[in-house]
Amino acid sequence: MADSPIIVWFRNDLRLSDNPALDAAVERGGPIIPIYIWSPDEEADWQLGGASKVWLHYSLQSLNEALEASNSRLLIRSGQSLPIIQEMIQETNAQAVYWNRRYEPYSIQRDSIVKSELKKQNIDAKSFNGSLLFEPWEIQTKQEQPYKVFTPFWKTCTSLPEPDEPTSAAHKIQSIKHWPKSQKLETLNLLPKIQWHNGILNSWSIGEAAAKKQLRHFISEAMSEYSVGRDIPGKPLTSRMSPYLHFGEISPRQIWHEVVFALSNNDTGNDSTSAWAFLREVGWREFAYHLMYHFPHTTTDPLREKFSRFPWKSNPRFLQAWQKGETGLPIIDAGMRELWATGWMHNRVRMVVASLLVKNMLVPWQEGARWFWDTLVDADLASNTFGWQWTAGCGADAAPFFRIFNPIAQGEKFDGDGEYVRKWVPEINNLPDKWIHKPWEAPATILNDAGVTLGKNYPYPVVDLKITRQDALEAYQTLKRMK
Ligand code: FAD
Repeated sequence: MADSPIIVWFRNDLRLSDNPALDAAVERGGPIIPIYIWSPDEEADWQLGGASKVWLHYSLQSLNEALEASNSRLLIRSGQSLPIIQEMIQETNAQAVYWNRRYEPYSIQRDSIVKSELKKQNIDAKSFNGSLLFEPWEIQTKQEQPYKVFTPFWKTCTSLPEPDEPTSAAHKIQSIKHWPKSQKLETLNLLPKIQWHNGILNSWSIGEAAAKKQLRHFISEAMSEYSVGRDIPGKPLTSRMSPYLHFGEISPRQIWHEVVFALSNNDTGNDSTSAWAFLREVGWREFAYHLMYHFPHTTTDPLREKFSRFPWKSNPRFLQAWQKGETGLPIIDAGMRELWATGWMHNRVRMVVASLLVKNMLVPWQEGARWFWDTLVDADLASNTFGWQWTAGCGADAAPFFRIFNPIAQGEKFDGDGEYVRKWVPEINNLPDKWIHKPWEAPATILNDAGVTLGKNYPYPVVDLKITRQDALEAYQTLKRMK
């Protein structure tokens, strides 16, 4: 039995190191059949967006190369997961199927069917935790309830024993003699027909090795400045780990232990405050998964039920200006263009653009979440849902609705010299710092000298920030009056 093949079903764990399902397969003994199944129909309303598909293509390519270097390969098939796994069992006489868990409501449902059907066939079907520091069900309040507030959640997490050390058994992968057939990666059609994705490729190196390199670069070059630097969008002072974490090219355990190791070696400029501030952000990701697991309806509906009656407005003109980065509000336009060009946006700017859409424009948060879903390379159902509900004030531990970010003040505070705005909104590059976040208030001569003609080469603001702030507060009052 021990020498019968084992199928390792790769999903959002596209790495060989610290991969518990792969490690368990190596430990069990026998040839390993690594497989990726492309089954978009099983992703419910959340089929991969365009930017994520680009990432996935290169991530699968990179995983296959790493497997080939270990004398193995990645098999690819598309269709329904269960029949494909059963087909593969028949073809190879595999006796075990191992995988790492996913936590989206539809994945949980699918995986539990797969597990119970395989068990009925006497297949050793096992799932593992490969993407979280703490399982969502392990963390609970004293009343045995899920947490809805981050600080006590994280306090409980950090009072537990440290996450296990990362492992690696990839070098011990045993190859199968007769490989079952595989589709070519290209047949999944993950890359767009019209080549719009060069910006993504120029901004990122994709795959497990690149994830590790980027983490080490961040730890040695930027982490000591993280506590303050993480809010400055014009500087590369955050880790950019999010897409690697989403696709599982790196695990949070690997991040945790690399940071703790660097701290113990004094590699971080001695700044343990910044290192812990960084790990705390990884904790927000854990919190987002905790919430999605315990409150699965929140991927489409507000956690605070009252918000389902909020007087949102459908406003295609505002939504389009926001999506295109043509609102006339420089920090917003910079963020939305960074997103379009690179598949990523700085966290501070994500909060500001989301606030403008749901508060000043009163567009439902779900429409913003959809746009992010399609354009982010790190689009992640837990973190995206959490980020949008947080901004809209309808989620757990959320910013109160009446706290409305002012894009001018945010720009002046976190991008004082306009470095970020100048990069992404070159039309206004020559404006002095004083006006870079509010060109419509600049005197005509200044605009003229900077080559800016409002309404021609850069728009007037699509919304009046003062009036729309007032409208938002009034809309919120209607909610407060509801029983
Ligand atoms: P760092 O600052 O270096 O943080 C390290 C890691 O911690 C990140 O990679 C991420 O995994 C985690 N993290 C940091 N902040 C948060 C947070 N607020 N919530 C959850 N996890 C966090 N993040 C996603 O990964 N996918 C999304 O789809 C997503 N959508 C968002 C939507 C909105 C409206 C907002 C406000 C935030 C969203 N975030 C999302 C969270 C956050 O913006 C990104 O994780 C972060 O910008 C990624 O950059 P980084 O890796 O350099 O972060």
